[in-house]
Amino acid sequence: MRVSFLFLLLLAVVTTYSQADYILYNGKIFTSDKKRLWAEALAIKGERILAVGGNAEILKSKGSSTKLINLDKRLVVAGFNDAHAHVGALYPARRFELSADPFAPTPWQILRDSIVKIVNQVPRGTFIITTIDPALLDDTTVRRKALDSIAPQNPVMMSAWTGHGKILNSAALKFFGFDMQTEFLGGRLDKDADQQLTGLIEEYANFRVGAEFSRKMDSSTIIRNIKGYYEQTAALGITTVQNMCTQHFAKQAVDLYTTHVFPCRVRLMAFPFTNNTRLLLDDWNGFFHSLNKMNYVSGVKLVLDGTPVERLACLRQPYSDKPGAYGRLNFDAPTLKHYMEFCLAHKQQIIIHAVGDSTITTIIRTMQSLHPAAFWKNKRVRIEHGELAVVQTEDINILKQFGIVIVQNPTHLGLPQIISKRFGSTRINYVQPLRSLLDNNIPLAIGSDGPFNPYVNIMLATIHPDNPKEAISREEAVIAYTYGSAYAEFKEDEKGTLTKGKLADLAVLSQDIFNVSPDKLPSTESVLTFIGGKIVYSKNVF
Ligand SMILES: [Zn+2]
Repeated sequence: MRVSFLFLLLLAVVTTYSQADYILYNGKIFTSDKKRLWAEALAIKGERILAVGGNAEILKSKGSSTKLINLDKRLVVAGFNDAHAHVGALYPARRFELSADPFAPTPWQILRDSIVKIVNQVPRGTFIITTIDPALLDDTTVRRKALDSIAPQNPVMMSAWTGHGKILNSAALKFFGFDMQTEFLGGRLDKDADQQLTGLIEEYANFRVGAEFSRKMDSSTIIRNIKGYYEQTAALGITTVQNMCTQHFAKQAVDLYTTHVFPCRVRLMAFPFTNNTRLLLDDWNGFFHSLNKMNYVSGVKLVLDGTPVERLACLRQPYSDKPGAYGRLNFDAPTLKHYMEFCLAHKQQIIIHAVGDSTITTIIRTMQSLHPAAFWKNKRVRIEHGELAVVQTEDINILKQFGIVIVQNPTHLGLPQIISKRFGSTRINYVQPLRSLLDNNIPLAIGSDGPFNPYVNIMLATIHPDNPKEAISREEAVIAYTYGSAYAEFKEDEKGTLTKGKLADLAVLSQDIFNVSPDKLPSTESVLTFIGGKIVYSKNVF
């Protein structure tokens, strides 16, 4: 009697255990798993995927409390993992854009008139912020003094859309506490012949601005802002954001993400700022761990060069449109080495913004000076952007030997005019590799580093306006954006494919992104987003 009771109990436990919480069936499920790319149905139990396969087989795990979702032939993908984003709050300010097209020129006369108009409308002290065409950064007449003459009482900030340079007026410099004595290693506060600040700030001086703004904001405003951001990512089927923590100082970021969770998993990548002599790596000491069920801190990001738009990416051969200009590195070799040693000592991933071919050579040489290639093979050192990562066949072998992971941002692939001007007719053939990375089994992840709509990024990766022969297929782009990005954060055993045992992070899409015409891709949405087996977004379709 007793035995059979136990037996029944055990049977009940086993049966309940194998019963799914959800079954999604009758769909087109793209698993991102190259061994079995397509399935019809998927079962979820708790936070994980219980089974993936054909309708009949998966419906067997239906129990009395299983919720059935008929996908009606809709496409399901693993949740997108945006491997490179900068999430922060907007400081209260009067913002304006001259054009909805971020690449449109921003002539000074028109900007000036707009600023004059706003100064007359807003209270003294209101911050005025606009985005400018980086060409304006080259115009030495448009600097602090020109802005002071029209806006003496209001801080004004004009940011290049690349995120690597800004022009500030005196009130804005004061707001940030920048004066003639201020210096930041890896950054530049430009000075004129009289040693006065011109208002142009670059790289590590420029990066601080976001964090300085956040420092002046109360946490409820910040939370409201970033919550809005993660609600949008959920609605697009993004389930992980790898956030380059450039918008907050370490302690503030860790506090915010410890006390709050959002409808998205968030990996915070440490971003140490600098003082006048060194990288403030120790600011992140003690923070490299999981903060709660959804958020975690890992990896340390360094920006080693700038972008080709400002001619700050560091090249082996000079820029084609400015003789003698090679760009520059933000840090010298000893600082780079010290940063790598810190990462190794703290068992953290090395994540380096490196665009130019010379920058990438410097990284490899510094790695080599510390340890042989074999040591690095499984360290997954990340190169963010890597526009000129492959200019000769030998580069491919080096990337492979050192186990480098490339994180590319398709929104950077759509600047053919400026890219061909800067790099010239030979280098344009090598720029922004995607196809040649995949053909050579070099790990590729995708991050947005700009508009976070995955379908815009997939469209650009599959067209590749800058260098079309480096375009990849939509299937490859989705794999890079899911499995590839998970690999790039050492989480491919947990997520990135829709396979048994993985976290149930997935999205049911509004349309079949593998079959619509390219111009239709950007309007794709998620209609149902799951994270860890829980619905975090649904659009009244089910
Ligand atoms: Zn970035």
